[in-house]
Amino acid sequence: AKYESNCPKYLNKRDIHPAATDPKLVSDSATLDQKAMDLIHKVDLMFLSTNSGSHMDTNHRGGSPGFIRCLPQEGGSTQFVYPEYSGNRLYQSLGNMILEPKAGFCFPDFETGDCLFVTGTTEILFGRDAAEIMPRSNLAVRVTITAARHVASVLPFRGDTGEFSPYNPVVRYLATEQAASRADASDQNQITAKLLEQTILTPTISRFRFSLSNAATFKAGQYVTIDASEHLDFGYSHMRDDDPRSLNDDFVRTFTVSSPPGLPPHPSKRLADDEFEITIRKVGVVTDLLFKHGLKKGAEFEVGIKGFGGEFVVEQTEEKPVVAFIAAGVGITPLMPCLTSLELGSLRLLWTLRAADIGLALDMIENAQELARSLTLFVTGMDFASDDDKRSLKNVEEHGVRIEYRRMEKGDLERLMPEVRRWYICTGTGQRSAVLQWLSGQEVLYEDYNF
Ligand SMILES: Cc1cc2nc3c(=O)[nH]c(=O)nc-3n(C[C@H](O)[C@H](O)[C@H](O)COP(=O)(O)OP(=O)(O)OC[C@H]3O[C@@H](n4cnc5c(N)ncnc54)[C@H](O)[C@@H]3O)c2cc1C
Repeated sequence: AKYESNCPKYLNKRDIHPAATDPKLVSDSATLDQKAMDLIHKVDLMFLSTNSGSHMDTNHRGGSPGFIRCLPQEGGSTQFVYPEYSGNRLYQSLGNMILEPKAGFCFPDFETGDCLFVTGTTEILFGRDAAEIMPRSNLAVRVTITAARHVASVLPFRGDTGEFSPYNPVVRYLATEQAASRADASDQNQITAKLLEQTILTPTISRFRFSLSNAATFKAGQYVTIDASEHLDFGYSHMRDDDPRSLNDDFVRTFTVSSPPGLPPHPSKRLADDEFEITIRKVGVVTDLLFKHGLKKGAEFEVGIKGFGGEFVVEQTEEKPVVAFIAAGVGITPLMPCLTSLELGSLRLLWTLRAADIGLALDMIENAQELARSLTLFVTGMDFASDDDKRSLKNVEEHGVRIEYRRMEKGDLERLMPEVRRWYICTGTGQRSAVLQWLSGQEVLYEDYNF
């Protein structure tokens, strides 16, 4: 048997608890009755089993409740369609469907314990074909049901709804349903944010200030999920040789809010009620879009906001006053909104930064002078440092920051272990695995930027 981990990106959280089963067959037909179709339109998770001829594979698909849509039926077998969001790019299930266009599906109802078991023939819809049936989709699967059993109370567990994945796009209705979906309240409530200002901090890092179409309610340490599909999703395209990845890209991205929320008891907010900031590095298509528009003076630019989420809050408690934060590059952002509520004398900040990014450290120190004494900077890339970078480094040092011109080492953390009660990490995956090993046995929390 082979196991490859599945991507949790589109999974909504649930608290699962055991429940007694009392299975009863509700229906047994390839033409679904209304109850079975209602179940499909209710679920936010389904499982699918495909096979390549020699191997079987079971996988899941998650989304907002209702992301799988039944086609209107005029007798005969029912068909349903679901969008393929950008995933782990392995295309295991889709690859199998090309070899063997048959699949088994299971739609669990976590509330009632009912389950709909389906087998069907599959058809992968690419580009124009996907968009024609399910507008704004580049890739979708249409299933023609060959057998279905709806069984009540069959699941030996129930699941209470928890936090929704911030990555889930809004439900993409079928072209035939669009009129109905326009009247749907959830679509009308889509929030947008207007880009107000870009502040350049380093050649590749800038701070962006946005105002929301309603009040910005987020907690320190949370991220905002931005949907830039309106600007980047060109609907369908059979081939995009210039940017093949965009074919399967939803243009939904996550960035830590770097401004403090100013909720009681720390009313430290310096922005208007409807504003928030993100501090980002230009690395790809969505960040590039923001950098392009931020610098265009006077031009209005808006992006969709899917919401705020996450729980990576840097906190000091009476029992655990001394905390350490280990950051690399823009991994410093989760600390930024927490600074005003922390006792900085009891913060140990170890931050790895390229010399070319020193402007980010200087900006932070100038906004929170007391932070200088808590900070040790590990500066790399001095060979590429410009005269400006060297001046900024000197300036940072004059504020009282300790600067080491080398990588962080195990000894740097060991020295702090006797006093530090909790460690927070926000670095790339490579550095994080090393740090986690060094901190074995310690209380550690980390944020993952490589979702
Ligand atoms: C909870 C959370 C908080 C975050 N907070 C921040 C933050 O505060 N600031 C910040 O700067 N970032 C943050 N990130 C990271 C940010 O979300 C990603 O960098 C995001 O992907 C940027 O979007 P993009 O479209 O500009 O880049 P993408 O196009 O998504 O590219 C991202 C990376 O993938 C690489 N890439 C692009 N195309 C390919 C390809 N075909 N094959 C292989 N690799 C490719 C790019 O070179 C780049 O390194 C956060 C991420 C998470 C999960």
